[in-house]
Amino acid sequence: MTKVTLDIEHADLDGSYSTVEGIRVNCTKCGHSVEVFGTSDASARRAAVMMKEECPLGLSNYYDIGDWG
Ligand SMILES: [Zn+2]
Repeated sequence: MTKVTLDIEHADLDGSYSTVEGIRVNCTKCGHSVEVFGTSDASARRAAVMMKEECPLGLSNYYDIGDWG
């Protein structure tokens, strides 16, 4: 299992009615990115789970959210 540190940044995302504050999370290995609503550590952990499912390299990776949150 390879540890991959995620690059996390604030992002304004399109919500149903207005812009919603969220985060954009980039895989530092392949450049794949996911976006989630909210900026808490729970949001970052949710993004890490999404990344594991979506990243083409993800199944053998452990995603570290660093000191986010
Ligand atoms: Zn990746």
